[in-house]
Amino acid sequence: MIITRKVEFSASHVCRIPRLSEEENRRIYGASANPNGHGHNYVVEVSLEGEPDAVTGMVFDLKELKDLLNREVVAPYDHRFLNYEAPPFDQVVPTTENIAREIWRRLEPHLRGATRRLHSIRLYETPDLFVDYFGDEQSSGEAPGSGEAARSNEAKCSA
Ligand SMILES: [Zn+2]
Repeated sequence: MIITRKVEFSASHVCRIPRLSEEENRRIYGASANPNGHGHNYVVEVSLEGEPDAVTGMVFDLKELKDLLNREVVAPYDHRFLNYEAPPFDQVVPTTENIAREIWRRLEPHLRGATRRLHSIRLYETPDLFVDYFGDEQSSGEAPGSGEAARSNEAKCSA
């Protein structure tokens, strides 16, 4: 069974790779490379997969999940300029892809259990653009910004 809880946060970001020229950043990210940044009303859907507890009938305590999302997602990101206020986005380009991966990294350790696990993170940057992230099975524990994470920085920033 999969249960999903949704939270929203509003944040600013700018998509730039510092070592690249202005022209190259504009080519890759378009208007999203504007150094002054721009905002989105992000929507995150966090899905857990598991079996309902025989006694409580719940896959996970929904109050606990709400508190966890407020602590790990809303508090650090809401009304922030991600590049300046929300590490690792001072080092990692805050594309939708990278934000989804970071939300997974923050939440996953809290959601592991004998009868349930984090199934996916869906992050909407706009109503028309979202990413789904199911964890990285091949991950060797690389820090964000190295290896694959760095390559995904080349991903498009939508708007
Ligand atoms: Zn954007």
